[in-house]
Amino acid sequence: MLGGAQWSTAWQVDDGCEQATSLLRTRIDAAPDTVASAPGRVNLIGEHTDYNAGLCLPLVLPHRTYVALRVRDDDIVRLISAQEPDSPWHGELGDVGPGTVDGWAGYAVGVAWALREAGQRVGGFDAAIDSCVPVGAGLSSSAALEAAMALALDGAFGLGLAGSEDGGSALVAACIRAENEIAGAPTGGMDQVAALSSKPGHALLLDFRSGARRDVPFDPAGAGLALIVIDTRARHSLGDGQYGERRAACARAAELLGLASLREVTDLDAALAALPDETSPDGTLRRRVRHVVTETARVEAAVAALDRADFAALGALFDASHASLRDDYQVSCGELDLAVAAAREAGALGARMTGGGFGGSAIALVPAADVGRITTAVGAAFDDGGFRAPMFLDATP
Ligand code: ADP
Ligand code: MG
Repeated sequence: MLGGAQWSTAWQVDDGCEQATSLLRTRIDAAPDTVASAPGRVNLIGEHTDYNAGLCLPLVLPHRTYVALRVRDDDIVRLISAQEPDSPWHGELGDVGPGTVDGWAGYAVGVAWALREAGQRVGGFDAAIDSCVPVGAGLSSSAALEAAMALALDGAFGLGLAGSEDGGSALVAACIRAENEIAGAPTGGMDQVAALSSKPGHALLLDFRSGARRDVPFDPAGAGLALIVIDTRARHSLGDGQYGERRAACARAAELLGLASLREVTDLDAALAALPDETSPDGTLRRRVRHVVTETARVEAAVAALDRADFAALGALFDASHASLRDDYQVSCGELDLAVAAAREAGALGARMTGGGFGGSAIALVPAADVGRITTAVGAAFDDGGFRAPMFLDATP
């Protein structure tokens, strides 16, 4: 606890492994062959760009999901999660396919299904899951679960994928298929790449057009700063439909412009002028395009700012990204706007919503010496606004 705010602290890796192992022992009466883990992530900048062939810049958190896994000699899978204590799952791996698994288990068993689909020798297993990644907070607990499962399966079945670049790509692909096809969440791929390919102390620049990646040094502590995550604990259910609607709008705009994706827009004003009025009488489609195109430009500017350790510039880009997501892309909400405004008012260099929106988390870049004061101020603003107390995470590498 710092300054009265509620903090969600990351577990030590050894402790997380022990938690998952003891869950497997107590609930399934088995010792694991492999224990693996993978991190949650926070996206520094580049929101709703992944499905537009754009750029984003995720940073892994010290918060991780842990999987303890034991191989079985049949085709049965049994899963338990400390976060879903009342919903254990079991079934035949051979029966798993799109539309066959309800709820959380799809994210986990879906990875085994996808690996098998890709020709890997994966059979039945028992697995126990525990995690300190906040679930549903926009910090990618889903990809942390998938990636930890993928690594556990890789280790336990001796697939040998994790060691090589091609093997790593196969694990990422299996996680994406699990989320898209078995869990049924049409997400864009950033989270799985971040969870499996990030380097400590670095953000990961991802280019969804070329597939290129670059590790970008991120050391706010070296400049006397901290990056804090504000989990608003708001989870507005309208988010699901809105995500699909935004994706469809971007695809439609690209089609109207005759482009493979909005990444191909080279002259924003010309593109906006070229969108026929009747497709967007209220200007909505133009605003969606403006967000996507300016957001990828902000990622480029953020990387340039980090290359020269210019955190003031990074903060200003956070602010501009938030305004664009709030006003043009219209995916913010009262809790996120309040978190951002209160953090800035209390002295943050910049703040923005992060993740898909409609709840979830915001990030703020703050002087390390002011963390207690700023988080207390955000908590007080939530109290005044009649919102549930937010939860804070330290994301400083
Ligand atoms: P986010 O990835 O931002 O946390 P999502 O909605 O993408 O939010 O994923 C959250 C879902 O992932 C949960 O509702 C649950 O189904 C599944 N999940 C994530 N972590 C766990 C876990 N530790 N145990 C069980 N299910 C989990
Ligand atoms: Mg997710």
